[in-house]
Amino acid sequence: MLYAELAELYDTLEKTSKRLEMTWHLAQAIGRTEEKDLGALLLLLQGRVLPPWDERKVGVAEKLVGKAISRATGASAKEVESLWAKRGDLGLVAEELSSKKRQSTLRSERLEVRGVLERVQGLTSLEGEGSVDRKVEEVSRLLSASPREARYLVRTVLEQLRIGVGAGTLRDAIAWALLPKVLGVLVPCSCGALNPALKTCMQCGKPLPKRLAEIQAKGMSSQDFRRALESGKSIPGSALITPESDEDGRALYTLITDAVQHAYDMLNDFGAVARIAKRKGLRGLRESSIEVFTPVKMMLAQKEDTLAAAMSRVGVPCAAEYKLDGFRVQAHLQGGGVRLFTRRLEDVTAQFPEILPALRGLRVNDAVLDGEAVGFDPASGKCRPFQEVSQRIRRKYGIEEMARELPVRLYLFDVLMLEGETLLKTPFRKRREALGRMLPKEGKYLALAPQLVTASEKEVEDFFAEALAEGHEGLMLKNLDAPYQPGARVGHMVKYKVVMDALDLVIVGAEHGEGKRAGWLTSYTLACRGNAGELLEIGKVSTGLKEKEEEGLSFMEMTRRLKPLASGAGKSMTVKPAIVIEVHYEEIQSSSNYSSGYALRFPRVIRLRDDKGPEDASTLQQVEQLYAKQRGRG
Ligand code: AMP
Repeated sequence: MLYAELAELYDTLEKTSKRLEMTWHLAQAIGRTEEKDLGALLLLLQGRVLPPWDERKVGVAEKLVGKAISRATGASAKEVESLWAKRGDLGLVAEELSSKKRQSTLRSERLEVRGVLERVQGLTSLEGEGSVDRKVEEVSRLLSASPREARYLVRTVLEQLRIGVGAGTLRDAIAWALLPKVLGVLVPCSCGALNPALKTCMQCGKPLPKRLAEIQAKGMSSQDFRRALESGKSIPGSALITPESDEDGRALYTLITDAVQHAYDMLNDFGAVARIAKRKGLRGLRESSIEVFTPVKMMLAQKEDTLAAAMSRVGVPCAAEYKLDGFRVQAHLQGGGVRLFTRRLEDVTAQFPEILPALRGLRVNDAVLDGEAVGFDPASGKCRPFQEVSQRIRRKYGIEEMARELPVRLYLFDVLMLEGETLLKTPFRKRREALGRMLPKEGKYLALAPQLVTASEKEVEDFFAEALAEGHEGLMLKNLDAPYQPGARVGHMVKYKVVMDALDLVIVGAEHGEGKRAGWLTSYTLACRGNAGELLEIGKVSTGLKEKEEEGLSFMEMTRRLKPLASGAGKSMTVKPAIVIEVHYEEIQSSSNYSSGYALRFPRVIRLRDDKGPEDASTLQQVEQLYAKQRGRG
C-alpha cells in the first residue's frame, strides 16, 4: 500500500465526524489492503509507530522536526518558526512549505506504508553522538514526499496524529471488511456497495432502503449461520446473512464484533487481529488466545459504596482481598525469561529487577500472572504508599539503587495462563488455587495477595478494618465462579474503599471484653459535640484495634489509657472525656438509641488523635451535613 493512499484516508477521516462514515472508509481501506501491509496500516491508523508494550521511543522533538522541514523544503529556520506560530501545527507547516517547493522541483519519493513504518521505527535506534543530526536528516528525507504525505508524516513522527480513530471503530471496520455481513446492519445499494445504515449510499449517493423488509438481497439464513458457527465450519468473509428481524440482526452482528473484540483483548494488536480475520475468519478469531510476552488487557473493577452492595454484586461466598496501594503488574514467564507489563501495557521489566529472580524461581515454564506491586520499607518489611514508588515506573537511571532503597513486592492475585493452558474461562476459585500451588507462602519480593473467603458480612467488615489498619486502601471483593474478562470493568471484581470523611470522636464509655479478650476494655462509646458544646453519643466501636501490641494500636494500649478515666462497677464503665479517636464508618444512620439522634454503621478505629481534645471533636452539625450528603444525596 502506498503511503499516499493512507494520507488520503487520513484526510477523509479528518473531515468526517460521524462514526458510521469513518467505519465505512476504514473498512474500504482494510478490505483492499494486502495481508503483508495490514500490520503497518492498522498501527499507523492509531497514530502509533510501535505497539504499546514496546519500550522504544521515537524521541523526535518539535524543534528537530522544524529543522528537518527547513532542510527538506529549503525554507529558512525563521520562515518555519513564523509559519508554525501562525498555524500552530507543524504538519500544516510541512505541507505548506513543501507544496511551495514542489513548484520548483518535481521529484517526490513514492513511499510505501510498510517502508515508512520501518524508517520511523528506525529512529528509535539512533542514539549517542551525532544522533540528532542523523534524525534530522532521516526525517527530512521522509519529508520529500508529497505535501499531503508530509502533513501526516510530521504528525506521525511527533506522535500527534489525533484523527480520532478509536478501538471500537477499528474493531467494527475489521468486521465490516473481513467477516460475514449481516443484512440490515449493513445495507446493500443497487450500485453494489455495502453501506452502514445511513440515508444515502456512501459510494453513489442514492437513497438506501430503511428497514430490513425493504432490503432485497438474499443471503445465508441466521439459523444456517449459527449452525455453521457452532460446528466450527468456515464462513467466507463475504457471506451475507439474512436475519429474521432487526433484533436478530443486531444479535448476530454482536456475535461477529465480539469475536474481533475477543481476539483484540488477547493480542492487543489490530494488525494481528485483521490477519487472523482474513486468513482464518470468525473461527480463528474466536480461538485466539493469550501469547506469552504479549500483554493482555487487565480485568478492571467496579465500585460500590457499601459492603453489603459489594457483596451482593459479587455473590456470596466471595473472596475478599486487600486492595493494595500499588500498581498493577502482569508478569509473563517462559523458559526462564520474564517480562513485566503495567496496566497501560507498557513493559517495565528493566525498572523492577528485584522481583525478577523470585519470578524465575517459581517452578513453572509458561505463565501469565496478574498482581499488584507494592513498595515496602526494606528495614521493617511494611508496605509503603503508592506515591513513594510511583517515581520508579518511569525511572531510567539508578535503578539498582532505587531497588535497594525502595523495593517493591509483587502480590499476585490471579493467573491467566499456565503451562500453555489458557485459564480465562476457569472459575476464579480454581485460578487462585493454581496460583497458591505455585507460590511460596510469603517471600520478600513475591507474595500471594491476602484473601479471605466468606459469606459473612461481619468477617468481611473485620477484614476491611485490618486492611485499613495496615495502610491499604480497602478491599476487592471477587466472584469465586467468575471468568477473567480482559479489559472489561465487570462486576466480577468490586472495589470497596472508604468514601466517608472520618470523624474525630470522644470516648465517653467502655465495656469489658469476653473470652480471650477478658481483662481488656474492648468496646468504646463514642460522642460528638452538640451545639452548646455538650457531648452527644453516636454509637459504639470495637473494630480496628489489634490483639497484639506489635501490630499497631491495640486493646491493651487502649485499656491502659482508659482505666484511669473509667468509673463504674459492672461490665460497662463511664469514661471521663479526654481521648479522641479517628473513626471511619460506612454510613451515618438516624437512630433513637443515641442522644445525638444518629448512629454509625460499621465504625472502626483508625488511630488515636492525641493532638486533639474533646473540644476539638467533630460536631453534630458536621454529622448532620455528612448524613445529608451520603449515598449520592449530596
Ligand atoms: P482502581 O484503580 O481504583 O479502579 O482499582 C482497581 C485496581 O486496584 C486494580 O487495577 C489493581 O491495580 C488494584 N488492586 C489492588 N489490590 C488488588 C487486588 N487484590 N485485586 C485486584 N486489583 C487490586
